[in-house]
Amino acid sequence: MSSFDPDSVGLSSGHFVDGAFTVAKGETLSVMRPSDGKCYAEINNAEAGLVDQAVTVAEEKRKSSGWSSCSPRERGAVLRRWADLIDADIEYLAKLEAVGSTRPISDVISHEVPFTAEALRFYAECADKFSGDVFPTRQDSLGMLISEPYGVIGAITPWNFPLSMASWKCGAALASGNAVVLKPSELTPFSTARFAELAVVAGLPAGVLNVVQGSGQTTGNALVSHPLVRKISFTGSTETGAKIMCQAALSGTKPVTLELGGKSPQLVFDDAGDVDEIAERIFLGFTTNAGQACVSGSRLIIQKGIANAVIDKLVEMCQQPVPGMTWNAETRYCPLIDRRQGEKVHSIVSASVQAGAELIVGGKRFEDTAEGWFWQPTLLGNVSQDNIAVQQEIFGPVLTIQIFENEEEAIALAKHDIYGLCAGVHTLNLQRAMRLMRTLDAGTVWINRYRRTKDFIIPTGGFQGSGMGKDLGRQSFESCMRQKSVLIDF
Ligand code: NAD
Repeated sequence: MSSFDPDSVGLSSGHFVDGAFTVAKGETLSVMRPSDGKCYAEINNAEAGLVDQAVTVAEEKRKSSGWSSCSPRERGAVLRRWADLIDADIEYLAKLEAVGSTRPISDVISHEVPFTAEALRFYAECADKFSGDVFPTRQDSLGMLISEPYGVIGAITPWNFPLSMASWKCGAALASGNAVVLKPSELTPFSTARFAELAVVAGLPAGVLNVVQGSGQTTGNALVSHPLVRKISFTGSTETGAKIMCQAALSGTKPVTLELGGKSPQLVFDDAGDVDEIAERIFLGFTTNAGQACVSGSRLIIQKGIANAVIDKLVEMCQQPVPGMTWNAETRYCPLIDRRQGEKVHSIVSASVQAGAELIVGGKRFEDTAEGWFWQPTLLGNVSQDNIAVQQEIFGPVLTIQIFENEEEAIALAKHDIYGLCAGVHTLNLQRAMRLMRTLDAGTVWINRYRRTKDFIIPTGGFQGSGMGKDLGRQSFESCMRQKSVLIDF
């Protein structure tokens, strides 16, 4: 797709409730474009009243429309039509995403939008594939476990991958017969609204998927606290996840799925193979979306014999990216979401260097990028395990480098007190790879690769402070249903 004028992209206004856009009275929030820092729209901050309306409609419509009780195959058919409409609408959806988020248009066209449609197709397949259980009881009785939807699921998403995060949560919840009230990040509201609108065009009964716009404190909190919301599916920071867990416990002991932050290690051994290939994996692992990915492989833990060769190559690669507006077709390197995020990256990198880290390359903003916050890919060497850049999730293109001599040392460095989201292991030694697969405290271990695929059958989710429960996979579909035990005497 060619470059486009960001001011030419039409935006929906308001919340999407009961199949239509609506604006409530009250406070508005400005929405900024990450590429140039321009305030390009406002959203209405949904307060408790509007959230209540969305949740009540969702509960009514999931029952009255038959969505919760129809044949799962029928739900699957709607999800498939929805996915086709997303593919057909790729140009508009991609523009919405490229204007408002950090993702360049080329990336959104090749990945974000097609992945969104594919995730819905995956859940369409799930709809009628998994069943309950029958237990060995006396011959004159029948013991069963049946699954049923929770009712209304509250879904809350972050700003870093707005469309795909929405599709993971809505796909699982809707395919299993629930209704959803979705709150996207207030920083990236518009593509999600269009995503929901297309669901209704595809045949999802109006009111079964509603989108409420607003801040976490007002709208998000009202959604989590609503008594008719029976489960929360959240993706965001570890800090917010903890607040949501408390609020969900206080407002009906609701189950929560939490996909939270990470500080993931990439372990490279001397026997990992081709240096250029390894450097490429490491580089993409910490610079994709300018490091604003939960799975960012932001801690390089590398064996002494191969370290210099890989680091030299990484330095070269770090000097290549050219920042650009996300609406320009040639842009590959994207901005940080906003000034606040830029200042956070700056303060952690500065504190890390002050504490003894060696700034190998990067460490500052690109010049001449006006109000957009484009951060140079940054390598920090000579970092101790307690260095702030090793300990804190930075959410920017910053890689810390630690060198080890043997496997035990590598395992000790990989350990993190808070996070356990992902880990990368780069070695051609099969025994070592298998050992580390078992040893590492991470919800996902990638061996000789470091990125997700369209194999949505593989679930994702973290350990410890990186969360609980899974997105994707049959596990996420099943987690949107509650299990009921039944015993029949005859
Ligand atoms: P965030 O926690 O600030 O916000 C996430 C969402 O929660 C937003 O919609 C926000 O409005 C809402 N929110 C904030 N406070 C709330 C509250 N008290 N009650 C209810 N909702 C509230 O996170 P962010 O800055 O948008 O996203 C970045 C974070 O998300 C990073 O930590 C990243 O690692 C994490 N993330 C995790 C995954 C994963 O799969 N594990 C994926 C993407 C992002």
